[in-house]
Amino acid sequence: MQNDVNSNLSSWTDKLSFDKEHLWHPYTSFNNPLPVFPVEKATGCEIHLATGEILIDGMSSWWAAIHGYNVPEINKCLEKQITSMSHVMFGGLTHSPAIELGQKLLEILPEGLEKIFYADSGSVSIEVAIKMAMQYFYTLGKPEKSKLLTVKSGYHGDTYHAMSVCDPVNGMHHIFKNTLPIHYFAPSPNIKPEEEWNNEEMDEIESILKAESHNICAIIIEPIVQGAGGMRFYHPEYLNQLRKLCDSYDILLIFDEIATGFGRTGELFATNHTQIAPDILCLGKALTGGYMTMACTVANHKVASTISNGEPGVFMHGPTFMGNPLACSAAIASINLLLSSPWQDRVKKISNQLKSELQKCSNLNSVKEVRVLGAIGVVEMHENVNMEILQKRFVEMGVWIRPFNKLIYIMPPFTISEEQLTKLTQAIYHVAKS
Ligand SMILES: *Cc1c(COP(=O)(O)O)cnc(C)c1O
Repeated sequence: MQNDVNSNLSSWTDKLSFDKEHLWHPYTSFNNPLPVFPVEKATGCEIHLATGEILIDGMSSWWAAIHGYNVPEINKCLEKQITSMSHVMFGGLTHSPAIELGQKLLEILPEGLEKIFYADSGSVSIEVAIKMAMQYFYTLGKPEKSKLLTVKSGYHGDTYHAMSVCDPVNGMHHIFKNTLPIHYFAPSPNIKPEEEWNNEEMDEIESILKAESHNICAIIIEPIVQGAGGMRFYHPEYLNQLRKLCDSYDILLIFDEIATGFGRTGELFATNHTQIAPDILCLGKALTGGYMTMACTVANHKVASTISNGEPGVFMHGPTFMGNPLACSAAIASINLLLSSPWQDRVKKISNQLKSELQKCSNLNSVKEVRVLGAIGVVEMHENVNMEILQKRFVEMGVWIRPFNKLIYIMPPFTISEEQLTKLTQAIYHVAKS
């Protein structure tokens, strides 16, 4: 065995030096790259490194792998699909995987959301949502309603318009400021889910609407959980109130459920914590169970029919890989697997365990706050963490956790065992303590 690992490593030395020289990784530098760990395989809730370590996965590969890795049910569906067709263009053609996925989504999506646009990544689905909102008012003869209103600390992706509605500071707007569309930012929602609601929370966003609604086509927001922009949780009533404001100021409401969709917050969609539905909703990440890239933008009848009735009478977007049959098959298998599993119990159990085991972190001087919602656990530190050092320590402890800024957080696969989860929370405690 030892020999295997060694010969393996010598070939990895070359591969890693190529990687370092030639491959961009997310948010990294070629001049001062952080180390990357070579993965040989991933199965269940484990990531197996080429160096022999086996890591318990705390990240679900950024919200996506809700069933863990190498999932027999999804593998089987993909194997079957690949022998009939891996891809055909969606212009002028259609196929069962796209139709079946659409039917599945309509069964589970919040009421009224019924017109589905398949996109190839989360960011693209956001671009599509924004274009829909703009084209809606263009069609109605109000092209001046082309700005967006959002809240600070948001994250909606890295393409141009998506980036323009990310938090202006975290999102590094200054780099692109000469060409980035300028939108309106209200303060981030502050009342936490467990706190008492107070309508004054809406004052600032309403005053922006009062002054500027004639320029605004939509409010875009991540419901309940602001993810990559700060891992913040807020009160569902905020969204009920937002719906009222949108209705009275003639503005569309867009929910970005790319991170929260498919059970992560304890409800199938974060929207289900509220009494309302948005006009447009984006899904991604866990849509295919983390198997491959796919997202979708779902509009209500009002938006879809208005765009389709006017001039030019078509919605102007059509990615090459739209409705990819393999991705659709993975999504169908993933949703079936989720719905036939006791996912509510699993998420609740993970939630309770995170609450009880992360609690002791809040006694540490270095820790500002511990918060848990659904299967998401966050330890916010007072100071920014050193990602390079922490990443290495986590790997040494046999866990995969990737902190950023002041945040050490996990959102494990729903299939994680109690023992595996304890390993994650213990590692967080050890790191936060030192
Ligand atoms: C990840 C994410 C996106 C962007 O999705 P990509 O597939 O990375 O383009 C958008 N919005 C939210 C809330 C996300 O978490």
